[in-house]
Parts: sequence; C-alpha cells; structure tokens
Amino acid sequence: MLASLARRRVIIVGAGQSGLAVAAALSAEGLRPQQDFVVIDAAAAGQRSWSSRWHSMVLLSDARHSALPTRRHPGDQRLHPKVDEMVDYLKVVEAGIGVETAWGIRVTGVERRGDGTTLHLSTTAGEVQTRNIVCATGAAAHPRLPEWATALSVPGVAIHTSRYQYPRQIPTRDVLIVGGGNSGLQIARELAASHAVTMAVRTRRAHRPLANSPLAAGGRRPLFGGDPHPEPVFGDSYERLQQAGVRVVPAVTDARGGAVILADGTTASPGSVIFATGYLPGDDWLPDDARIRGPRRTTTPVPGLFVAGFPQYSRRGVDTIAGVSADATAIAHHIINRP
Ligand SMILES: Cc1cc2nc3c(=O)[nH]c(=O)nc-3n(C[C@H](O)[C@H](O)[C@H](O)COP(=O)(O)OP(=O)(O)OC[C@H]3O[C@@H](n4cnc5c(N)ncnc54)[C@H](O)[C@@H]3O)c2cc1C
Repeated sequence: MLASLARRRVIIVGAGQSGLAVAAALSAEGLRPQQDFVVIDAAAAGQRSWSSRWHSMVLLSDARHSALPTRRHPGDQRLHPKVDEMVDYLKVVEAGIGVETAWGIRVTGVERRGDGTTLHLSTTAGEVQTRNIVCATGAAAHPRLPEWATALSVPGVAIHTSRYQYPRQIPTRDVLIVGGGNSGLQIARELAASHAVTMAVRTRRAHRPLANSPLAAGGRRPLFGGDPHPEPVFGDSYERLQQAGVRVVPAVTDARGGAVILADGTTASPGSVIFATGYLPGDDWLPDDARIRGPRRTTTPVPGLFVAGFPQYSRRGVDTIAGVSADATAIAHHIINRP
C-alpha cells in the first residue's frame, strides 16, 4: 500500500469535501491524481463523515451552497440536501477528479527532520515521505463533551450527536438533549414523535427560517466556531418545539450519578442523554505549533504543511462546503510555487 504513496509531490490527508476541494485545485493546476498527488483517509472505503450523521439530518445550506464550484448538485438548487445525498455527491466529485482515495490509513503524526525539505508522515500503514502535506481532517472530527459527562451514569444511553443515528437507539422513553444549537434542535424534533424530550439550553439563540441559513443567504458566517456570537438556529424554533411537546430547561452545570444539576439549581434524572455539545477539530496529528488556535491561514510554521477546511477569522466560511475552495485554491498556488 505504501508503495503507492511514496515519491508523490503532495499527500492530502482526509477525503471529505476539503480534501477533494484541494485535489480539484491541484488538478486544475495540472497535477495528476495518483501520480503527483494522493488522497488518504482513515475511514473504511467511502465512509465519509456525512455517512455517520443521523439518518434524518438535512443540511442547513441549500444545494447551491452545499457544492464545490466544480460540480452542482442535481435538481432544485434551493432544496437542502439530506446526508445520503451529500455522500453520493462527494463520490461523484471524487470520480470526476479521478481520485482513487487510499482508505483505511490513519495518519498519526508528521515531522520535519532538521531543516530539510522532506516531511515524514507517520501512518497506520507505516512511514511515508513527501514534500507537501495537506491536513483536511475536519473541523468537526471529534465529540466535544462537557467535563461532567464522565460523572453521569444513566439507565439508558449517554451518547454524543456524532453517534446518534435514529430514534430506536434511545431505549428509554425520556431523553435529555444537552445543547440547544442546530444539531440539538434537529434531533429534538425527530425524537419528539416517539420520546419524552427535554432540551437543556444555555443561550436561547436567535431564530431564522431555514431558507435564510448563512450560506443560503449568500453570507460567509462560519457555521462551527470562529465566531464570537453563537450562530442562530435555523428551521425549527424553541417555541415550535415546545408546541410539539419538548420541554426546554436551563443548561446543565454538573452531574452526579444518575442526576444532572441545572443552572437554576433544580435537578433531573434523565433516562438517556444526547450530548449536542459540539465538535473538536481533527488536527490532533499535527505538530503543536501547526495546530489550530484562533485566527489562522492555510499555511503553517512547518514548510510544506498546509491546512484546509478549518475555521478562520481572516476568511469566513472555509469550514463550510461552499467556502472551502478558497482554502484549496490558496494551497494549490502555494504548492505549485514552492521551489
Ligand atoms: C452536524 C453537522 C452539520 C453540518 N452542516 C453543514 C451544512 O449544512 N452546510 C455546510 O456547508 N457545512 C456543514 N457542516 C460543516 C462541514 O461542512 C462539515 O463538517 C464537513 O463534513 C467538513 O468537511 P471536511 O472535509 O473539512 O471534514 P470531514 O468531512 O470531517 O472529513 C475529514 C476526513 O478526514 C478523515 N480523517 C480524520 N482524521 C484522520 C487521520 N488522522 N488520518 C486520516 N484520515 C483522517 C476522516 O475519516 C474524514 O473522512 C456541518 C458539520 C456538522 C458536524
């Protein structure tokens, strides 16, 4: 397997939309997939992050803003794609570029030894050397859990949204959703039909119709992090969920055994808990000085090491589907112009 990665000018780590956007930009610069650049991904073949989202999930961005500039979604551009449509769409994008992703290879680290131009990439399939590496391993790669999560023990299940797929996964009748952002709202709406749902909300966010979601409106507001103000909720509102029977309570501040303590001092003993508490970036394999902290660009202090698809203050929306191509084009230019 490693023979097919050796002596390539660029290795792109991550085959989601960010990795594919970089592949498309390199291809537009005349670099050939498999020969000049390769794409590797830790997941099982074709299992991009969208395949692991809850089955009923609908994107906030409409079709027009859920696409890379090189390829449209089929059909009405004002509709909001479902996750399986995103999975299919990215397969088509990958085939269109001619990329044959090397699946099932996890990257564990990267190192520049001395002041040389070679980067050493450690992977679960062994070490490989190259001159350019693009980290496209996702701004929302790992669950972000509150500190008290480990102190909680419920009779049913306690899972993060990244593991939630459908209602029958929740064995108890009552379920507490911790977090009142867009993920929490979508899952609360789905579960309200079959479960007794309580949602713990720290900040009641502004509500906007789905058609006004930041990208559908043509805005470039980062969806996940990188913005000092919490994003609005789109589609459902807290009020409409309350009409559907969802109980909205203050934030959870702590947990002991089977009980959670709410910000107003009251307690509750949920049957199951879903943590809709956000995500952490998948940059854990980068050297410390190249990791994502605050405003950042596509380059890192390590020559030849680039990052794509992580939130930035300097360029808004690059952690979204429509926005990542700005990163990709900049990275391709850097790589082409490197000595
Ligand atoms: C719940 C949710 C809803 C969202 N909705 C929208 C939306 O409506 N519109 C929008 O524009 N954006 C949305 N986003 C934001 C963003 O578009 C997605 O997070 C998208 O999946 C990011 O694509 P990516 O390619 O940057 O990362 P990912 O899709 O996460 O792809 C990263 C890839 O890297 C691989 N990988 C990770 N670590 C390693 C490693 N160490 N070694 C090798 N491979 C590795 C993974 O297997 C994965 O395939 C949403 C995000 C979330 C979490």
